[in-house]
Amino acid sequence: MALSTVRNLIPHSSSVLRSGFAGAAGRLVCPSSEHDIVTVVKRRYFIGAGAAAGAGTWAGWSQSWAARFIRGRVEELGREIPAAPHRPSPATWNDNAITLAWLGHATVLINFYGLRILTDPVLFRRIGVDLGVGSLGPLRLVQCALPGDDLPEIDVVLVSHAHFDHLDTPSLGVVRGKPVAVMAMSTADLLPRRGYSAVHELAWGQSQTVTTPHGDLSVRAIEVKHWGARIRRDSWRGYSGFVLEREGRKLLIGGDTALTDSFKHHRTLGPFEAAVMPIGAYDPWIWNHCTPEHAVTMADAAGARLFVPVHHQSFELSREPFMEPIERAQEALLQERGRLAIHQIGETAVIA
Ligand SMILES: [Zn+2]
Ligand SMILES: [Zn+2]
Repeated sequence: MALSTVRNLIPHSSSVLRSGFAGAAGRLVCPSSEHDIVTVVKRRYFIGAGAAAGAGTWAGWSQSWAARFIRGRVEELGREIPAAPHRPSPATWNDNAITLAWLGHATVLINFYGLRILTDPVLFRRIGVDLGVGSLGPLRLVQCALPGDDLPEIDVVLVSHAHFDHLDTPSLGVVRGKPVAVMAMSTADLLPRRGYSAVHELAWGQSQTVTTPHGDLSVRAIEVKHWGARIRRDSWRGYSGFVLEREGRKLLIGGDTALTDSFKHHRTLGPFEAAVMPIGAYDPWIWNHCTPEHAVTMADAAGARLFVPVHHQSFELSREPFMEPIERAQEALLQERGRLAIHQIGETAVIA
């Protein structure tokens, strides 16, 4: 699919919640772009200006993206967001180990031998265009497992690409500490002004040794199969996964990816203690998002010991039922259950 024709993933509809979490088949709104959302806002003004009856009919029946977006936001009004099933306690983590906690969506808090890393921070109730007083976009299905105030000071923030569910400007603005930001190519212009001690953009194959008060971390950007445009026309933006190395041990962060052979080549960068892999948003977006089985195949190709699934159960981005990605991941790892390190939002995995 040509980059210019692909839209970013911004979901709509709360059908998952209406149906209860188990087995709900979410309806997908075509992923939006910032341009689309601004258009929706303008349309809302138009509605308020006196065309409410006609526009209401339009929003109720139209299958256009804008109509479905509005219906989705309206359906979310008043919806309560359940707490995450687990709450990590990073203050108790051992600085002589590797500890990972899934906070929701693609956000993972990692203590890598005392150095604290946060991947694709998305901490608030909504994702989408930052209006300054909140974001205009989908509501979470489950609360973030650790609100920003409860996060420890972060040494390194990783941003895999500029899609709204990965590069959330309000969240990037409240990460505690003075972290170094390591980002995909041509995305640093979106970083909010705040106390980042350094900002690095990495192209595939580029490495950077990041120096922090808690020591050094080697970060390498790796090829994945996805796309980078945040709005329709900024297809120059990059997207990547990352390989992290410290004290001779390595982690693979898959970012957002469809099935690709490139993980076979990433094997030469290992061995990896764990691969953090996306497993959701594949129906119908299979050309940009892998299935759980694909994710396991790629983690196997890279030679990762543990499998940490992310990118599911947090926002309604696609049609697959809420529980399907993790159930399929469990099935794919049935013969190696010990490799599936995290099942639910807020769970913690320790690699001694
Ligand atoms: Zn993406
Ligand atoms: Zn995503």
